[in-house]
Amino acid sequence: MRFKALGDLARPAPREIRTANLPEKVIITDFARDKAFLVSELVQRVHNAAYEWYGFTLGERKNPGLIVDVGLPGNDANKENYTSTSPEGIAAYQETLPPGLIINGWLHSHGELEHRDFSLVDEVNQATVLDYVTSLLMIPVAQKEVIIEDLALLVMGEEEPLAEAPPPSLKEAQDAGQASPTPASVTLLTDVPVTRARLLETVYGGFCFAIVIGDEGWTQQEIHYKTRGILTGETRTSRRPADLTVVTSGKFLTSLDQEALELEVKERLRPVAYTLEKLERG
Ligand SMILES: [Zn+2]
Repeated sequence: MRFKALGDLARPAPREIRTANLPEKVIITDFARDKAFLVSELVQRVHNAAYEWYGFTLGERKNPGLIVDVGLPGNDANKENYTSTSPEGIAAYQETLPPGLIINGWLHSHGELEHRDFSLVDEVNQATVLDYVTSLLMIPVAQKEVIIEDLALLVMGEEEPLAEAPPPSLKEAQDAGQASPTPASVTLLTDVPVTRARLLETVYGGFCFAIVIGDEGWTQQEIHYKTRGILTGETRTSRRPADLTVVTSGKFLTSLDQEALELEVKERLRPVAYTLEKLERG
């Protein structure tokens, strides 16, 4: 028994049931925000220059939607003309973190540059970070109907017996041509006769935050999303501009924290010739 079960039903769009929401706002603690701006200050003080640097925003694994810290990896790529990051670099930094902490986004500075938005260069970096973060954070976000135009519903034991002989060669199969029926795109075998069926797949989703800051104190944020259907592999990416919400953490940068950060800025960030403007406006 075979019929165009799903094709016969008039439905405008596949059914989708949300099971979790990904963040719609960028929420950061006062500690993490202050630390980001302190890095920019230290860059000017230590290196006597304002230049771009990048770091990762960090969240707790059990609450990845809140940025609680900013981590400073070695900005090796600063020897190029712009900040850039690689999957290997991100993974290497993640390995230095305590188990409860994960990278949940990318934060970088435009220094003194009056470009208060993301550039094309930034988009490439954000896509790299999004891929990495999404692989860490695959949250089941929806149950979505899989539309199958040609679904065969068969009862177990009553299906046409599978050939005992080895399968025909490609040429033999082509020669048989119209004679043999084309198999359905999906066959569902059940223990009782079924006349209608719908398939729902779990859609997993992840996100990453993107923040750019300037020495004058401005910030700009986006959230990037990626979802993937477990059965169909259908992958979607999107992004949205988002406000920055700062929450009080009760945690402050102590003088010890500041000294440690100054050392990191000395060791991990290297000044580059200031040829960024053209690239970032690109
Ligand atoms: Zn940028």
